[in-house]
Amino acid sequence: MDLEKTLLRKVGEAISKYDMIRPGDRVAVGLSGGKDSVTLLEALVLLQKRAPIDFTVCAFTIEQGKFLRPIAPFKEYLEKKGVEWVYYHDNPSFQLLEDQPDHGCDMCSRYRRRAVYEVARGMRANVIAFGHTADDFCESFLRNALFNGRISSLPPITYSSHKDFRIIRPLVFVTEDITTAYASHLTAPVIPCGCSQKTGTVRRSLRDYFTEMEKDHPRIKESMLSAMGNIELHRLLDTRYQDPEKTIAKPVTEELFPMLT
Ligand code: SF4
Repeated sequence: MDLEKTLLRKVGEAISKYDMIRPGDRVAVGLSGGKDSVTLLEALVLLQKRAPIDFTVCAFTIEQGKFLRPIAPFKEYLEKKGVEWVYYHDNPSFQLLEDQPDHGCDMCSRYRRRAVYEVARGMRANVIAFGHTADDFCESFLRNALFNGRISSLPPITYSSHKDFRIIRPLVFVTEDITTAYASHLTAPVIPCGCSQKTGTVRRSLRDYFTEMEKDHPRIKESMLSAMGNIELHRLLDTRYQDPEKTIAKPVTEELFPMLT
């Protein structure tokens, strides 16, 4: 399938560019119930069979009380694939839901992170893979610039604070039109999280913005991803990186209207 080739090429490119997976790694994939993490798991299982390096893949799901349907159907799906899966009911997250039903994403993800490390340790994994896509990288970039006053996005590869785990996001170059199409060909259950249905959020506004812009400019996400890997630090406002001696001024029209010159 061409779609599968495209997916594997993009995931392979990310793994090799950022040295995400190394010989002997045990990679635990965080299955969130959605199309992206299922696609990631499929891609890693396929690459594991074809890649020249030796690594193993397992999966886990953290239950925080937010799924709209029971997640149990994953069990059968993953058993058929021969992938070890841990379904972890996180009691502290349920307590949080009861005590503070309106808790925000910060609190929720802090609870999830603790549970993720606990589960990954139990599975003897040294690498944790998350299904954040190119869309998530672009949204995170815009959200940080527009609301947090920072030029920043998600790291494609990083480490947990005690360096116990390498954390990787191999779908960095994979857009959600690919994961949506690919997941629709799988027999995997896709179980939405209640939060994904929320309206009136910044995330929803940014998604709508991209959808609108992409009608006329279908490659803007690709361009944003390239921009994140092509930073002209000395042309931004952070004094830590300024070196006026080395910055050559361009004609004013080119500075202000690069698309027109
Ligand atoms: S979107 Fe929902 S599940 Fe995700 S971090 Fe926020 S509160 Fe938690």
